[in-house]
Amino acid sequence: MTMLTVEQLAHTYGTGPKAVTALKDITFSVNPGELVSIVGPSGCGKTTLLRAMAGLMEPTGGTVALEGDRITEAPEGLAMVFQDYRGSLFPWLTVEKNVRFPLKGHGLPKDEIDSRVADSLVAVGLKGFEESFPSQLSGGMQQRVAIARALAYRPKILLMDEPFASVDAQTREELEDLVLVVKQRFDMTILFVTHDIDESVYLADRVVVLSKRPTFVQTVLEVHLPAERDQITTKEDPEFIRLRGEAARLIRSAPSGSDAAITDRHAA
Ligand code: ADP
Ligand code: MG
Repeated sequence: MTMLTVEQLAHTYGTGPKAVTALKDITFSVNPGELVSIVGPSGCGKTTLLRAMAGLMEPTGGTVALEGDRITEAPEGLAMVFQDYRGSLFPWLTVEKNVRFPLKGHGLPKDEIDSRVADSLVAVGLKGFEESFPSQLSGGMQQRVAIARALAYRPKILLMDEPFASVDAQTREELEDLVLVVKQRFDMTILFVTHDIDESVYLADRVVVLSKRPTFVQTVLEVHLPAERDQITTKEDPEFIRLRGEAARLIRSAPSGSDAAITDRHAA
């Protein structure tokens, strides 16, 4: 069964002459165990899309379903990692307590919670930092805490909204590789949103390429690269170069859903 299904999703902010149509027509799906990335220009509606998927906002059109159940409010089986690491952790809780927090009140035995928290802190390379507070950590390490928290929660799907846009290039590569490792180790299903084309191809099994606003899906690229990826050799692979070129051309020329050409294509 498909893990996540997005069908003809549309969202317009406001009404009348001031209305802004962020999303016009978004359809795609994510299969279990897949990492699907979504790439599109700034302001095209990526965060709007994730908010609709997380049940944080009701879209003005279309549907989102998790394992076939339509999402109307924040569902249980979903975790999110945001771009702004400063706002996503509780500053007054230690690293360990931040990771533990979402596991409370679900009837899990204490042993199970303890082992999940310990496991996920090891998986993200934060063993030894259990008693630190977020403010004592770098931005990259704070994102590791956010990832550990999501891992410990064992979501059906993890949504990531430009999670590495605010860290330096070196840290970003390390965090990208961390995502690939934990995806394999925990058999995760991940939807990864980014405006960075290289990142979208490097991480993904499939890449959903968006248009400019009003936004529709231009194409979905299948990434036929080996599962084992490497920041240097993967990026030299002719298939990687071909895919990033294709995505870049689509985004540069990015038509928007209001262009006549697109209306014609939809009508044809
Ligand atoms: P992205 O994440 O791709 O940068 P967003 O989803 O944040 O894009 O925003 C898409 C468009 O919708 C932008 O033009 C933005 O200004 C507009 N927008 C976002 N949130 C609101 C809001 N609450 N009210 C009105 N317009 C909004
Ligand atoms: Mg955004």
